[in-house]
Amino acid sequence: MTKAIHIIGGGMAGSEAAWQAINLGVPVVIHEMRPRVGTFAHQTGNLAEMVCSNSFRSDDDEQNAVGLLHWEMRAAGGLIMEMADRHRLPAGGALAVDRENFAQSVTDRLRSHPLVTVSEAEVTALPDDGPAIIATGPLTSGALAEAIAQEAGQDSLAFFDAIAPIVHADSIDMSKAWMQSRYDKGETEEERTAYLNCPMDRDTYEAFIDALLAADKTEFHEGETAKYFDGCLPIEVMAERGRETLRHGPMKPVGLTNPHQPDIKAHAVVQLRRDNKLGTLFNIVGFQTKMKYGAQTEVFRMIPGLENARFARLGGIHRNTFINSPTLLDHEMRLRSKPHIRFAGQITGVEGYVESAAMGLLAGRLAAAEVLGHSLPPVPQETAMGALIHHITGGAEAKTFQPMNVNFGLFPPVDLKGGRKNRKARYKGYTDRAKSAWQEWLDVA
Ligand SMILES: Cc1cc2nc3c(=O)[nH]c(=O)nc-3n(C[C@H](O)[C@H](O)[C@H](O)COP(=O)(O)OP(=O)(O)OC[C@H]3O[C@@H](n4cnc5c(N)ncnc54)[C@H](O)[C@@H]3O)c2cc1C
Repeated sequence: MTKAIHIIGGGMAGSEAAWQAINLGVPVVIHEMRPRVGTFAHQTGNLAEMVCSNSFRSDDDEQNAVGLLHWEMRAAGGLIMEMADRHRLPAGGALAVDRENFAQSVTDRLRSHPLVTVSEAEVTALPDDGPAIIATGPLTSGALAEAIAQEAGQDSLAFFDAIAPIVHADSIDMSKAWMQSRYDKGETEEERTAYLNCPMDRDTYEAFIDALLAADKTEFHEGETAKYFDGCLPIEVMAERGRETLRHGPMKPVGLTNPHQPDIKAHAVVQLRRDNKLGTLFNIVGFQTKMKYGAQTEVFRMIPGLENARFARLGGIHRNTFINSPTLLDHEMRLRSKPHIRFAGQITGVEGYVESAAMGLLAGRLAAAEVLGHSLPPVPQETAMGALIHHITGGAEAKTFQPMNVNFGLFPPVDLKGGRKNRKARYKGYTDRAKSAWQEWLDVA
């Protein structure tokens, strides 16, 4: 008899992984702790419960990376997309769903399938043998999180997500910003120019602090933050401690010379650091924030050079368990130290319902192929699926690794004549290229 895949966690990723495996004829056991053991966000015992909003975001598969991911999952016969489409609600260009009917129909489809067994129990240790997929999400239970931390190393598991915004490199005004590491530190030219700097004069700095103090903030609803946040304070909290705190912290202007105005010393400098190997994304160093999204874009666009910034991800702070995938997982999402275990979903460092389900889709197919004794060709990086799996399994900087939504910054750039100016044509270039690469992959996978 074909060996069963043990899938721990029946959320977005676990449900999709199960569906993909059973469609390839491989049985699965889904271990889901709810309703016996709850989380602070889930309300039911259903599989694939949406914990917060009821939106799968944009459904535009020509101009939007998450819309493209929808397209790719539909083309792969994804269960999450099938049920989302079935329970779609009117929401303009977004794919919003009736959350109860959505989760109920995913649950019914899986529970009634002859190749599926559901075990309603919390898993507290890593499975001794495989194949297994851990898809326990951002709210992984404490005992299992501890077991993962023991295997991976405490530093490799983050419990809170204090994230700084990420900016698309091509939206930064380089007539104001420049590349330089503090004190030109580094052995190579690449190291000496590792940071992108945005200078502020005194008036701009003062206005920026005023805006930070006045901005709308979200309140964090779990009381476990004190220890962690001491080394990782949100910028607005630093600003509350004193108007000069940021100038002596992440915005200190020392060791830097602005080549556009070499004789003028900046009053403060905002630094951005490369966030991916392609150099298409930069994160704002030390700018983790609790500001509401609207306030963030307004305040960050006050930074000289970022007036027209497009954000691949905005900052935020919430409970989130995820592993340092770039160091811990191989290119097939297997734990290097225990390759019978794969990880999938938000715990791998992707962010969002759709991205989590997408990584479940790949993990399910990869695990099933392994059980059946064949291997799959690498997922092309030009696809949304491929861009995500490449990012988490090696493309992202391990030291600064933080959860990531799918976005075109993760894709190899498209080569379009004059395309830089024409965003619409560029995005269409990305999505056309991705669709044919994905279809080709599905044909051979
Ligand atoms: C509070 C909060 C709000 C969010 N809001 C949004 C949003 O609005 N939009 C969005 O796109 N994303 C949101 N996310 C992010 C994320 O995309 C979702 O959490 C998504 O559901 C992740 O999918 P997943 O399959 O990785 O995890 P989940 O969907 O959370 O599934 C994991 C499953 O594992 C189970 N489990 C955990 N530990 C164990 C264990 N030890 N044994 C057995 N079962 C276990 C859980 O009960 C759960 O069913 C939010 C996250 C959080 C924490």
